[in-house]
Amino acid sequence: MTAQLIDGKLIANNLLEDLKKEIAKREEDGIRNPALAVILVGDDPASTVYVNNKRRACEKVGIKSLFYDLPATTTQIELEKLIDDLNNDSGVDGILVQSPLPDPLDEDRILDLISPDKDVDGFHPINLGLLAMRQPKFRSCTPYGVIKMLKAMEIEISGKDAVVVGASNHVGRPMAFELLMAGATVTQCHSKTQNIQDKVYNSDIVVAAVGRPEMVKGSWIKKGAVVIDIGINRVGDKLIGDVEFEVAKNNASFITPVPGGVGPMTVATLMSNTLDAQKNSL
Ligand code: NAP
Repeated sequence: MTAQLIDGKLIANNLLEDLKKEIAKREEDGIRNPALAVILVGDDPASTVYVNNKRRACEKVGIKSLFYDLPATTTQIELEKLIDDLNNDSGVDGILVQSPLPDPLDEDRILDLISPDKDVDGFHPINLGLLAMRQPKFRSCTPYGVIKMLKAMEIEISGKDAVVVGASNHVGRPMAFELLMAGATVTQCHSKTQNIQDKVYNSDIVVAAVGRPEMVKGSWIKKGAVVIDIGINRVGDKLIGDVEFEVAKNNASFITPVPGGVGPMTVATLMSNTLDAQKNSL
């Protein structure tokens, strides 16, 4: 068996096209374009790539992106002041702070200060709590992007056994909440979990979000399972996922590539969250 590749780039481009049309239509109706403030502190190369991708997507769909490229020497007080200003600026619909922030900035505190109404990344405790209670408002872009991707591929979630390998606050946990909300029975694995291999093997849907290259072995994948690889690991000049793709594809029914799988869905979801933020504020 060779799995069908899930083309995240294509699905994301379709979403972006729809958003572009909707934003253009709203513009015709006299509604200003949505605006997203993108804050990058320091010059981490990976963060710079991610931020540039997000800015390019903004341009593509007609979202105004406001650039805040700040030096690594930016202080906590300066950053908090900027967040406060953006929270109070009615011309700004969404605020994104690119993670990780350089030391000694307190990232959790900064993310908590973003108004939940402008939290288009879906990282604020209020938004994560609402998702956990099945009353989502802003949903974390990567997990929500995975759900959109599964829907686009008409892959059934309800009633399936799913495993999420990884349990971080911004990726693994909201991914488990999303799958639960969609009707899956979810097992969540983390660094203390024993026998991850068995848990993966018993699952119809496998989501990997660990940050360890090819940690999820291809032989662990049950025949016909759906494999979603969120991991992005730089190994030399290559990007490698958390799943051993070359072997996993022989067992899976559907599988995402890295790159070109979940990454573009994250960006497209950020764009739709920003439009939603504007709609909510009007
Ligand atoms: P993170 O904050 O470092 O969290 C990693 C998670 O994996 C933690 O829950 C950790 O467990 C768990 N873990 C670590 N080692 C493990 C092991 N040996 N067995 C089982 N679980 C283990 O990372 P993250 O922010 O969630 O990101 C995960 C990956 O996704 C990274 O490669 C990141 O680059 C990628 N990512 C991709 C996108 C995208 O758009 N495609 C977006 C965001 C992130 P504990 O909780 O017990 O420490």
